[in-house]
Amino acid sequence: MKFTDFNLKETIQAAVTEAGFKEPSPVQKEAIPLVLEGHDMIAQAQTGTGKTAAFGLPIMSMMKADGSVEGLVIVPTRELAMQVSDELYRFGKLSGLKTATVYGGTAYGKQIERIRQASIIVATPGRLQDLLMSGKIKLNPKFVVLDEADEMLDMGFLDEIKNIFTFLPKERQTLMFSATMPKAIRKLAEEILENPKTVSI
Ligand code: AMP
Repeated sequence: MKFTDFNLKETIQAAVTEAGFKEPSPVQKEAIPLVLEGHDMIAQAQTGTGKTAAFGLPIMSMMKADGSVEGLVIVPTRELAMQVSDELYRFGKLSGLKTATVYGGTAYGKQIERIRQASIIVATPGRLQDLLMSGKIKLNPKFVVLDEADEMLDMGFLDEIKNIFTFLPKERQTLMFSATMPKAIRKLAEEILENPKTVSI
């Protein structure tokens, strides 16, 4: 199987080629078609399996680059936020899709400015909740991704995540990635996903 089999938008496919990716990884083979079909998804995948591209490529392929925030990716840590942003920037730059990275411990002004220009936000739960609750930003993303969901629950972010979802549109496509599937993760999945497809590699 090749990346060209997915029928990704031309500029996204070009970015994949530029990144030097030859063959899709197992999680990409399973997830990309399901996401392009519009399904919600819960995927069990570890770091290093290519999960960022597994959600990033299909959602970016469906984005319009219309100046609004079309995608929201929630991650547990600042380090992961920066790593995921870098990867999404590479995939999106030929399509005019800008990424903003949002995390705590730093000034609001610049982050809010970047959010206003971004198609995709990669955020940690605390700062994101803070921005939404204070009314500093309003979001209407079509695509919402929870990355390393088990890690976020282990860090005690369940309340923040649930609260964040009260600010998000009901009409959306939601994807959840987790290395493990304990009961708390399955329960959260039931609450935020609609008829999800399951991917396990
Ligand atoms: P991730 O699991 O998303 O953190 O990705 C791990 C690393 O693998 C990143 O450096 C990606 O750029 C790279 N990668 C992801 N998918 C592929 C692929 N299909 N072929 C080659 N490298 C890849």
